[in-house]
Amino acid sequence: MRILVTGGAGFIGSAVSRRIIETTPHELLVYDKLTYAGNLDSLAPIAGDPRYSFRRADICDRDAVAAAFEEFQPDVVMHLAAESHVDRSIDGPGAFIETNVVGTFTLLAAALDYWRRLDAQTAAGFRFLHISTDEVFGALGLEGLFREDTPYAPNSPYSASKAGSDHLARAWRETYGLPTIITNCSNNYGPYHFPEKLIPLTILNALEEKPLPVYGRGENVRDWLFVEDHAEALLTVARAGVVGQSYNVGGRSEIRNIEVVQAICDSLDELRPRARGSYRELITFVQDRPGHDLRYAIDCSKIERELGWRAKESFASGLAKTVRWYLDNEAWWKAIRSGKYRGERLGCVA
Ligand code: NAD
Repeated sequence: MRILVTGGAGFIGSAVSRRIIETTPHELLVYDKLTYAGNLDSLAPIAGDPRYSFRRADICDRDAVAAAFEEFQPDVVMHLAAESHVDRSIDGPGAFIETNVVGTFTLLAAALDYWRRLDAQTAAGFRFLHISTDEVFGALGLEGLFREDTPYAPNSPYSASKAGSDHLARAWRETYGLPTIITNCSNNYGPYHFPEKLIPLTILNALEEKPLPVYGRGENVRDWLFVEDHAEALLTVARAGVVGQSYNVGGRSEIRNIEVVQAICDSLDELRPRARGSYRELITFVQDRPGHDLRYAIDCSKIERELGWRAKESFASGLAKTVRWYLDNEAWWKAIRSGKYRGERLGCVA
């Protein structure tokens, strides 16, 4: 199988790309613009493999997208390229509309053109997997779960742009027959996570003895999924997912933000104790994000039941692996913290 991964230099895309090369016989083309969030260091473990190739280009560039399809001849597209950070979408929504909506349109148009020219057998096996977020469903109260048929109600410019792209992926299937499948996933965490997001930000600020910012009183609840589990879910959907369907992907791990930050502090207290006191003393409550959704939680029983996927890591085991990874991979995050990333806002949750 030949898999084209857009956004493959990002957090989740690089996990999927590493997994493809390390655990399958498939060939891989990573197509990525390398924005601030794209990092070739995250693909270093597979860089020398002959089944892997990389192309630096924008998904909004019609000619570059068409050329990638023509030259690589993919059987599967996994579309992860996106502007992904909610806080940045509040400060500058334009880039989110451009990449997430117009870029997805450009990719779908090129995929359709390519797909229509395939022979019947190859066309029947082709899949366009559109990777999205549970944030398209809006916010939950203290009860209930997002299901695949939950109505869309996005609240941030980020989630609105992702909702728009989901609708395009659906419409290209309904209108033109392009074999699209959509996945909506909860908050990911794990190695190679860009240090503007809550978990890596907290780990690295703690190690640097900086304040650990928590929005409001830290009452917001997220359903956390270890990124390797998400990568496996996407490969499962690419292999066995039903065209025209959407699948919710989640970790069955609902936790309040304040508990996430406290768990990181406790883990670091054990692995890298401070000279004096606990890392918990660095926790600082900051003004809440506008339109901050209270709770996200996923009902992932469809993908579990129909495709046999299930998250392997609990939050405790995944967090332990994550903290250990940041302690062992200083070179990766120090390059980002020192130069490329200066952090416009203090705290954040994707
Ligand atoms: P990320 O920000 O870490 O990576 C995005 C990648 O896309 C980067 O490598 C970037 O260079 C690339 N990119 C951005 N604009 C591009 C463009 N115009 N053309 C080509 N490449 C471009 O994001 P992530 O956290 O890995 O998320 C990947 C996808 O998964 C996104 O679509 C996101 O909406 C979705 N998602 C993320 C989460 C999460 O918790 N991080 C949860 C559910 C769904």
